Amino acid sequence: MNEKQRLESQQVQSPKNKEEKDYSKYFQTVYMPPSLKDARRRGKEDIKYHDDFDIDERFKEMGNGRKFYIRTYGCQMNEHDTEVMAGIFMGLGYQATETVEDADVILMNTCAIRENAENKVFGELGHLKHLKMEKPELLLGVCGCMAQQESVVNRILEKHPFVDMIFGTHNIHRLPEILHEAYMSKEMVVEVWSKEGDVIENLPKVRAGKIRAWVNIMYGCDKFCTYCIVPYTRGKERSRRPEDIIQEVRQLAAHGYQEITLLGQNVNAYGKDFDDIDYHFGDLMDDLRKINIPRIRFTTSHPRDFDDHLIEVLAHKGNLVEHIHLPVQSGSSAMLKIMGRKYTREQFLELVRKIKKAIPDVSLSTDIIVGFPNETDEQFEETMSLYREVGFETAYTFIYSAREGTPAAKMKDNVSMEVKKERLQRLNALVNDFSRKAMEAHKGQIVEVLVEGESKNNPEVLSGYTRKNKLVNFKGPKSAIGHLVQVKITEAKTWTLNGEMVDVQEAVEVI
Ligand code: SF4
Repeated sequence: MNEKQRLESQQVQSPKNKEEKDYSKYFQTVYMPPSLKDARRRGKEDIKYHDDFDIDERFKEMGNGRKFYIRTYGCQMNEHDTEVMAGIFMGLGYQATETVEDADVILMNTCAIRENAENKVFGELGHLKHLKMEKPELLLGVCGCMAQQESVVNRILEKHPFVDMIFGTHNIHRLPEILHEAYMSKEMVVEVWSKEGDVIENLPKVRAGKIRAWVNIMYGCDKFCTYCIVPYTRGKERSRRPEDIIQEVRQLAAHGYQEITLLGQNVNAYGKDFDDIDYHFGDLMDDLRKINIPRIRFTTSHPRDFDDHLIEVLAHKGNLVEHIHLPVQSGSSAMLKIMGRKYTREQFLELVRKIKKAIPDVSLSTDIIVGFPNETDEQFEETMSLYREVGFETAYTFIYSAREGTPAAKMKDNVSMEVKKERLQRLNALVNDFSRKAMEAHKGQIVEVLVEGESKNNPEVLSGYTRKNKLVNFKGPKSAIGHLVQVKITEAKTWTLNGEMVDVQEAVEVI
């Protein structure tokens, strides 16, 4: 029986409380757990593109009188997936709520990149158990990258049996069916496809903001860095067709969005999977820079695929901002080899040299892993010296976290946690130092700020970001929110800038 026939054979009822009646005789609960072994395989089958996503008529009333709450962990890709799931919930008639106590469905959209992120989710599940006991009709779901891992699913099955549904990153478009089954069944619904699905174009979205928007350009990753779980949880690289991306960016521009962040695990590999056209990330950026939208960013880059054409296009600037996040992970060629990064220290430095030559005022930031198994003092010092040589303006720094199922997790490690923490401290001191210097250089300058809203700490103050992604606080009219304004920088702190607005478009009301 195929999926459609199976759905058609189901009795369609949406009891408010699944205790009301035993529906189990009507259908078999889905139990489709993940397999890291299957997820590792890269098939040659073509990716199919669909633009016919539709919510089945039978489910359209499912959310009437019900509210959903999604808690998101991890990267922007997850944030954007949450926007898609919110869109599907709204299509089913649910309303959004800001509090878990008020929700009829709670989803935890999880991240698997570090153990810490996973621990937070398990801790949160412990809290939600009490809510579930008070309110048995509440549906509780775990989705996102953690759900793609066998060990996590087994742990939830064993230790958190009150969870109603687990579904993976490839199953998001199946949310209506998964919810339906969870309402009907007394069993936990587990639907995690280990192999990636096709690219589905017209999924609904409820975007979190009206100023900045995320646009996926590709899904998955084929790099298999030895420490990383992402190629297993997000599947193989699949690029969206350029015309679909261009149309989405045009629509966002028409709706008044001021800034777009293009998303992918490795945006520089964009287009490598096309076999009918020769079109890569540089070509896409070249087309997008002609669209009338003030700013376009992208994340995340892999140095290996960062080619000359892309540098040439970025050098045109315009709406392509002069900030590049370029994860290096280590400054030691030997360590990079063990990490499976597929470039050396020298190749990375050569790439940076080319970027700086083409874009002299570029701001570079990076990601660094400290304390990878068996990292020596000398290798760590190479990371420190590379940081200084490049002059990164900021960095996300992490102590290595073993991810079950990855090659690095099997490596013996002779570096103690004490040493790792000490290295991290030293690196962070360097990062702070360079950030402070980069901020200091802004003093007295007039910068363009995209005003996002009131500052979190002081509603009398507005805040927004520069093209180089620096947070600026300043006094100004609330009517400036959502607009680009000019701000003269008067004070530089380690992570933020303070300034005075010197010009505003359409400013009326003064605070
Ligand atoms: S390129 Fe990034 S997402 Fe892909 S395996 Fe390496 S670290 Fe993970």
